[in-house]
Amino acid sequence: MRVLQIASEAVPFAKTGGLADVAGALPAALQQLGCQTTLVLPAYRSVFGKGLPIEQTDLRFPVAVGTRSLEAAVFTCRLPDDGGQIFLIGNDHCFDRDSLYGTPEDYADNAERFIFFSRAALELAARQPEPFDIIHCHDWQTGLVPAYQKLLYNSWPTLGQARTVLTIHNMAYQGQFWHWDMLLTGFHWKYFNWQQMEFYGQLNMLKAGIVFADKLTTVSPTYAREIQAAPGGNGLEGVLAGRAADLVGIVNGIDTAAWNPRTDAHIPRHYGEDDVDDGKYTARVALAARLGHAAPDTRPLVAFVGRLAEQKGVGLILDLINRMAGSGLAHFMILGTGDPAVEQALRTVAASYPGTVDVVIGFDETLAHLIQAAADILLMPSQYEPCGLAQLYAFRYGTIPVVRATGGLVDTVIDTNDQTLADGTASGFVFEAFESAALEEAVRRAVAARGDHDRWRELVRRVMGQDWSWQASARRYREVYEQTLAAPPVAVADVE
Ligand code: ADP
Repeated sequence: MRVLQIASEAVPFAKTGGLADVAGALPAALQQLGCQTTLVLPAYRSVFGKGLPIEQTDLRFPVAVGTRSLEAAVFTCRLPDDGGQIFLIGNDHCFDRDSLYGTPEDYADNAERFIFFSRAALELAARQPEPFDIIHCHDWQTGLVPAYQKLLYNSWPTLGQARTVLTIHNMAYQGQFWHWDMLLTGFHWKYFNWQQMEFYGQLNMLKAGIVFADKLTTVSPTYAREIQAAPGGNGLEGVLAGRAADLVGIVNGIDTAAWNPRTDAHIPRHYGEDDVDDGKYTARVALAARLGHAAPDTRPLVAFVGRLAEQKGVGLILDLINRMAGSGLAHFMILGTGDPAVEQALRTVAASYPGTVDVVIGFDETLAHLIQAAADILLMPSQYEPCGLAQLYAFRYGTIPVVRATGGLVDTVIDTNDQTLADGTASGFVFEAFESAALEEAVRRAVAARGDHDRWRELVRRVMGQDWSWQASARRYREVYEQTLAAPPVAVADVE
């Protein structure tokens, strides 16, 4: 099976979110399963500064974007782990910029940039010697790819027989642009209707992908259900519900080499299931030193590592600390960056409870690993969570997650109670309502459970042994590809 992956970011080239982890890891995992994979990415300015062996090829071709013609210059890169072929599409006008999408404001011409990229990726694929079976695109940036394949590139021998798969990583980002950007796409205006590319008067690239792709996936089964209703669908719930039969949830894998307490270069002492207590104690000593404490705290360490965004439930965490820090039952450690008001509130609360609450504002990979190793309990009280990775990292390090029952957290964390302890499925503490009292109740249950050393050890041992590797996820993707190939392509509706 020949698979073409088209994504706007992938590790190690460019990353702003979880999409980059998926697009970076899935090709190599698919290769191991015997799928020949080609990955196409934009050649952003930043990809050249990372010491990666990127080489320019002789291949250059023009790409129509509205009435203009933009030239695509093709680069290639071979990485040590066989992730298949990688191409990067260069165009100085589109990609020689400071950031991927513009920050804090999106670039005004993002529609043009990703129309160019989507078409260039297909034009490149069309110039390959062998046809592709599956064209797998990701998120709004490549949402037009299925429409291009069906409407404009259908007669190309290497593309015409392919089936298209779109993976949605987060419904909150849809790529909505004013209607005149329709002229840049090259599509006939007749597709600008409420059943295809239009959404409340605007061009909606994610919607186009949802309508035209042969198969849809998202990053967990529960999120796949949640986005078929409000508020999870962010307005596109009806379109998604209409395609329920073709929508599949596949939980992301994690990089089990980077997140492995047996080999992690970021932690002071390696450990596994058998010496987790020693490993965690040594990590706790290192963390205390890093934070300027004389000695490590012996109380349960309750941690949060992540973006300080409303989605992540940071308001609940602030409430939790205010409710619980005075009790002296636990030590809290927060690492994150994001909303300036939340950052300030966290600094204030840390100053109110010295020795009980530690807050580090910033993005710090080493500290994130050290916290996962040192902590007993990881907080993920998310409002919504398409998949979530931090809870899967926590498992590897023997850290027990406390999560809200939403999205991928439902699919990966099983609440601890008498029954799940008895049947061996317990893996964390789950609460339902997006309320601080519900979070507090779950954290208190976790802290109490931590007091029963033997049971806690059993829980820790079990979560450390779980398999959340990309191999497992890639097998699911391959199944989806096979199902998609076995079915006829989705018909293009003629909307009056
Ligand atoms: P999302 O992709 O929505 O931000 P995930 O749970 O899927 O959330 O992935 C977030 C991961 O990013 C965390 O597990 C953590 O490793 C990393 N991360 C987030 N914020 C920080 C930070 N301030 N410092 C270090 N790592 C961070």
